[in-house]
Amino acid sequence: MSANALAPYRRLTIKIGSALLVDKAGKLRGQWLADLASDIAAIKSAGSDVVIVSSGAIALGRGLLGLSAVTLTLEQSQAAASAGQIALSQAWAEALGRHQIVTGQILITPNITEERRYYLNARTTIQTLLGLGAIPIINENDSVATAEIRYGDNDRLSARVATMIEADCLVLLSDVDGLYTAPPAKDPDAEHLPVVKAITAGIEAMAGGAASHLSRGGMTTKVEAGKIATLAGTAMIIAKGTEAHPLRSLTEGGRHTLFLPAQSRAQARKRWIMGTLAVAGTIQVDAGAARALLTGKSLLPIGVTKVTGDFERGDAIAVVNPDGVEIARALVGLDSDEARLVMGKRSDAVIELLGTGNRAALVHRDNMVLVGAKEDANELS
Ligand code: GLU
Repeated sequence: MSANALAPYRRLTIKIGSALLVDKAGKLRGQWLADLASDIAAIKSAGSDVVIVSSGAIALGRGLLGLSAVTLTLEQSQAAASAGQIALSQAWAEALGRHQIVTGQILITPNITEERRYYLNARTTIQTLLGLGAIPIINENDSVATAEIRYGDNDRLSARVATMIEADCLVLLSDVDGLYTAPPAKDPDAEHLPVVKAITAGIEAMAGGAASHLSRGGMTTKVEAGKIATLAGTAMIIAKGTEAHPLRSLTEGGRHTLFLPAQSRAQARKRWIMGTLAVAGTIQVDAGAARALLTGKSLLPIGVTKVTGDFERGDAIAVVNPDGVEIARALVGLDSDEARLVMGKRSDAVIELLGTGNRAALVHRDNMVLVGAKEDANELS
């Protein structure tokens, strides 16, 4: 087999496990990282965007701070993460810097991927970095996250990041080369699965719990990550990363498990807008704007006649026609005060009122679902 597993994808989120980056003595595997950086540079120069989710802060910080206990207290882990994150970022900056690639560090807590205001900002920062040719390096903000509000494993964190930036594939590099019918360490008859079409209860049962010396997530959190990714229309690959050049080997037919997306990203996004979010307000439009929306146009302030409710940018709102009938559900581009300020105004006046940094559309068509599509969306959820 020599198929290039990464060929179909243009935007990759690559999660690197701690056990790949840091050896058992707590030292960075510098040559391994240097080789990986050259794989990443090759993928990037072939035209794909790459976002890295890197573990390893706690593992590096342990060594730096001389914390040798097998199990660290929460406070010790947070201190280790704090010291280790500096070393981790520096290692990435140096490794990718050798390929003239600039890195940007983003530390994330669950509220950032779950609350829309933060989510939109984090997404914009990542997209801006990518647009500038840089590679975002992401980790959980372990040194401030409390036990209740942390992911705790970078498998699920990386799946959230991948769906947030609409990556078409999430690659989990760890110490296993994919999913087996049973944990291979315990069952010699376990068979490797090259493709998982849907994450069924049977697949979840196969995940068992393959933990390694450093990683927090075993196969269970990887399959959880697979659910998050595939339901949002992002494919996921699990591959072994311990040897040199694991990404290059994926492009040369290396063994892995591919989890196929459950639906397209556009379908997933519509389902999310229609089915998951509570409506925070209503925008009434005139007949002309209602017609324009139905032909797939964005919603401009000039067509708005009334704004009801108190909402933030990024909240879900209902768009109603002059008779008060809902015609679309959307993520709004302005908050309710701004919307009231600009309603009925032409786009040039809107730009003058809000400053050039703000877009003239109140709702971009990519963030809108026409209510005719509602039935389908509900059926899916
Ligand atoms: N965020 C943790 C770290 O950087 C790792 C979590 C994980 O390995 O899943 O040490």
